[in-house]
Amino acid sequence: MATLEWRSPANEMAVQQFESAAQKLNLDPNVAARLKRPDRALIVSVPTRVDDGGVHVFTGYRVQHNDVLGPFKGGIRYHPDVNLGEVSALAMWMTWKCSLVGLPLGGAKGGIACDPAELSRNELQGMTRRYTAEILNFIGPEVDVPAPDMGTNEQIMAWIMDTYSQHKGFAVPGVVTGKPVAVGGTLGRREATGRGVVYTIIEAAKHLGIDLAKCSAAIQGFGNVGSVTAKELAGLGVKVLAVSDRSSAVTNGKGLPIDELIQFKEKNPRLDKFPKGEKFPGDQLLELKCDILVPAAGEMQITRENAGRLKCRIVAEGANGPTTPEADEILRDKEVFVIPDILANAGGVVVSYFEWVQDLQNFFWTEDEVNKKLREILTRAFQEVLRTSQKEKVDMRLAALMLGVSRVARAMLWRGLYA
Ligand code: GLU
Repeated sequence: MATLEWRSPANEMAVQQFESAAQKLNLDPNVAARLKRPDRALIVSVPTRVDDGGVHVFTGYRVQHNDVLGPFKGGIRYHPDVNLGEVSALAMWMTWKCSLVGLPLGGAKGGIACDPAELSRNELQGMTRRYTAEILNFIGPEVDVPAPDMGTNEQIMAWIMDTYSQHKGFAVPGVVTGKPVAVGGTLGRREATGRGVVYTIIEAAKHLGIDLAKCSAAIQGFGNVGSVTAKELAGLGVKVLAVSDRSSAVTNGKGLPIDELIQFKEKNPRLDKFPKGEKFPGDQLLELKCDILVPAAGEMQITRENAGRLKCRIVAEGANGPTTPEADEILRDKEVFVIPDILANAGGVVVSYFEWVQDLQNFFWTEDEVNKKLREILTRAFQEVLRTSQKEKVDMRLAALMLGVSRVARAMLWRGLYA
């Protein structure tokens, strides 16, 4: 059970997943007790001048779960539902994700409870800069390196980099990743998570003997991860039958023209107004008949309630924590092949790692180099997870968690306890 302070449905779920891996690994109970909770959790007040002249105080968080393998790493989320428990769960998942794919980085996450769509550019900038100032002593290229997550983007990262640099007195690009290329970002970072999702789908299809050119897909979420995944899948000949976002959903039985849909979305907030598709209730998306289902939105979307009605062969988790442990059991019985979040969506943090390395060396790579190295890392990680799942007779999620957790635990045991 999660410790009271961090208690929330998402954190209960992350701890439950961790406990099943710990049990299967026969993890040292002292190590397990420590890994169940974060190293450090900050809650900050973020007073922000709003456009009507008043001041609104937002609540911000940064949770650092574990840095035994290297500096803390993880995104910053702007969403109305952000809370300490959710951020803690996301921070723990970052620890396993970085460890699983072999990065010398730990796990963290941050966020502000706000609706970014309701904030003007000025308000967003003011809030971001003040949040950065509040967490300034806890981040840095050697300490903790934030990145984008739901509701944040390269502009937000540029403001964080600038605020941090202003305080230090010189440019510190390595303090965040996911920055614009003009201020030390890397080529290929924006697309990296979606690309990574598709690299792991390619491996899953090979393993299952499925021809992707004959496959169909449905995608929940059409933000950065969902839209890039859709585009890359369409590029492989996969028919993208349906996509949805927070407010609407659109379908086309012949396959949606994804490039046109992406262009449309830039100017029109509602997907269901797209002329080359039909609108349908978004809550039905997960239950559509398709080969590949990509949840690329929030946590706990595939649950005990709807898992039995899924009609796909592969679930590729673009989101963090989209499937509850009860739903996992149902999917296992239905023989749905799940590519778990810490593997499927690890492309983002892998390319964040490349960005950080390039910033520290002041030496930048081509996009081809970035994509090639990303693919190598994810393909190797996929094969390791698959081998572990076959050897240990466990599903892909437990196999991925076992690999992620065991590497962190091994490093903790080598380093010992400082008392
Ligand atoms: N927010 C992304 C994730 O959940 C990326 C984190 C990063 O690049 O540090 O993996």
